[in-house]
Amino acid sequence: MNHSSAPSSATQTEEWSAEFVLTRPGHDAPLFNQRITTRDGRLCALQPEILPQQGAGRVAIPAFANAHDHGRGVPTLSAGIPDGPLELWLSRLGVEPRMQAYLNAACAFANMAEAGIGAVVHCHNTQNGRALLEEAEGVAAAARDVGIRVAFAVPFAGENPFVYGDNAALGGYMPDLSRYPQLSAPRHKRSLAEGLAITDALTHLESPTFTVQYGPVGPQWTNRETLETLSALSASIGRRVHMHFFETRLQREWADAQFPEGLIPWLDKIGLLSPRLTLAHCCWLREHELELLAQRGVLIACNTSSNFRLSSGLPPIAGVLRHAITFGVGLDGMSLEDDHDILRETRLLRGVAQALDAGIDGVADKGMLLTHCCDALLRGGREAVLGPDSGGTLLEGAPADFVIARTDRIMRHTVPDAALPDLLLTRLTRQDIDTLVVNGKTIVKNGQCITVSKPDLERTLNDLIKAALDKNHGTSPVDPEWENGLRRYYRAGEHRKAGITHV
Ligand SMILES: [Zn+2]
Repeated sequence: MNHSSAPSSATQTEEWSAEFVLTRPGHDAPLFNQRITTRDGRLCALQPEILPQQGAGRVAIPAFANAHDHGRGVPTLSAGIPDGPLELWLSRLGVEPRMQAYLNAACAFANMAEAGIGAVVHCHNTQNGRALLEEAEGVAAAARDVGIRVAFAVPFAGENPFVYGDNAALGGYMPDLSRYPQLSAPRHKRSLAEGLAITDALTHLESPTFTVQYGPVGPQWTNRETLETLSALSASIGRRVHMHFFETRLQREWADAQFPEGLIPWLDKIGLLSPRLTLAHCCWLREHELELLAQRGVLIACNTSSNFRLSSGLPPIAGVLRHAITFGVGLDGMSLEDDHDILRETRLLRGVAQALDAGIDGVADKGMLLTHCCDALLRGGREAVLGPDSGGTLLEGAPADFVIARTDRIMRHTVPDAALPDLLLTRLTRQDIDTLVVNGKTIVKNGQCITVSKPDLERTLNDLIKAALDKNHGTSPVDPEWENGLRRYYRAGEHRKAGITHV
């Protein structure tokens, strides 16, 4: 790569060179030996150029998009929290050390940038429910400093804090209730009005690289009035909505009991199902529901690693492809190797699709799977962040959001040029990412995030974690008595009892 320019700025003309350019991988044939010119955050020209021989060269690709994440600067395992079934794992998060929102998010965003991710939906998990606005401002500052595009999903939650269904009944499954005062203590619950006021306050921070979405955390955690209100607001002002949905079997069973007419038809009745909505996970959707989601243009974020690690189920990729639903790839803060490697994540999703619809006449045999996966990585996820735009391509006039990757490792054997898009999803990993440009600004150079000091951020975060763990005196985040109580509650089918939720 020859990069010639004054220091990075979205308002200057800059030039990059690459031996291979994939303008729309899977759709268009690769271009060779190109000079890429950007101006004012847009790609303004692609021109042939004579380049000196540089080994196997470099490949320019539209920047990757992470359709669903939580911006974890430190993986949960590093805080001593083991993976496990979602409902148990969530209860372990209570011991997660409190970290400054800015530090946590900046570290996560810098890590994502080095993996080639130029856009992400950040579903914010509050560490202090009373300080959401302050935390959100920290995330906004982190987004601004790192420079990738972040959609901040404001969490609306508060229902069913411990289990789905009758939380009061949970005590009956605990052998020693006195150990769990939280079951009877009053809880702080942010009101709908407070959540909307915080959303409004955050909109003042919106920019080309920071936007705000409504983030009802999931139907089992958000009351009906909130969903109705957010649906109406989204329709009137166009703000996107992002929600976890049918991540686990227990959530599905809860919803079937609470909504005898069907949760999906109810969401449709209140107008929530639209192209402005992203549903994350969707492991337990049924065929007719996929059909309705397709008709309404709802976007789905698939989170394969997370579903594997949290024992949730399989992503709905077979149905998504069958119904031509727009989908994105999400890491959910739980990538398979805790490394934010969205290329491997996309590879995993592609593999699951091929395994679920296997063999002759299967999805791989019909062709287009590579194209669909590239579209998800580059455009579907981006739509979850920004709504439809002309990004996710390297065409003239598109937003200047792209990755330049080194190809010497992946092209260690001779490969025909036509195989290039396939190589991206077969061999490329985050270690090959050299450069990330977002909105015309260089965020990653020589594989390192240059907008913030990631080593400094990581050192500070690690010190915080270590201090918190030391203070904990090795207390395990796993409380077998509590978790057995949860197991007994669900085994008894308490979550399937209708009409006692949202207390
Ligand atoms: Zn999530």
